[in-house]
Amino acid sequence: MATSPERAAQIVAQWRSVTADIARAARDVERTPADVALVAVSKTFPAEDIAPLIAAGQKIFGENKVQEAKAKWPELRRAHPDIELHLIGPLQSNKAREAVELFDVIETIDRPKIAEAIAQEIARTGRSPRLYVQVNTGNEPQKAGVSPKEADAFLTRCRELGLKIDGLMCIPPVDEQASPHFALLAQIARRNGVAALSMGMSADYELAIQLGATHVRVGSAIFGSR
Ligand SMILES: *Cc1c(COP(=O)(O)O)cnc(C)c1O
Repeated sequence: MATSPERAAQIVAQWRSVTADIARAARDVERTPADVALVAVSKTFPAEDIAPLIAAGQKIFGENKVQEAKAKWPELRRAHPDIELHLIGPLQSNKAREAVELFDVIETIDRPKIAEAIAQEIARTGRSPRLYVQVNTGNEPQKAGVSPKEADAFLTRCRELGLKIDGLMCIPPVDEQASPHFALLAQIARRNGVAALSMGMSADYELAIQLGATHVRVGSAIFGSR
């Protein structure tokens, strides 16, 4: 179903407001707004809702499921080759092939089996998405991500496999203050020489920018509730 002009205008207005907030949050801590990238999280929203945002100038998008991205994005990408698509959801090793084919950045490398599968697909396809490691900063049993304690060893393992890790990503526990989690992720990145920090969502992206986020992943503040 086509998105109504009113809905399209609302999405673009909310995107502009998030973009302005990001720039303000960056300047507040004497960072350059251009050093903070907005990943517009379009999961569950149809291509018709995404098109107005692409027309307005948004280039980076995040999806959390390989299958959903496969259904939604190939056509949009053909029309807009400069789009950068991020995988931000948990990855199964049997989806590694599709993930490497579909995404420009995979943010959720979190265990040796996935790292090995990705390394194999990169070698096979010659395609090399940028890779981030997801860190489970709250040590939550149900959540994906390598534990903070194991992060350094896992990054070393990735490098041994020939994988270049460009960033770290975290999703803090919903019922806790996010700032210690953002600070912990920044600390792990610093000591491992990793540059990109993907942290902060609709509720806390300004805080994440204060603590060094280079990528914020914002869904509902742009597209509305899911
Ligand atoms: C859904 C999702 C987001 C966006 O969340 P909002 O609260 O809607 O901004 C960010 N990161 C990940 C990993 C997600 O799954």
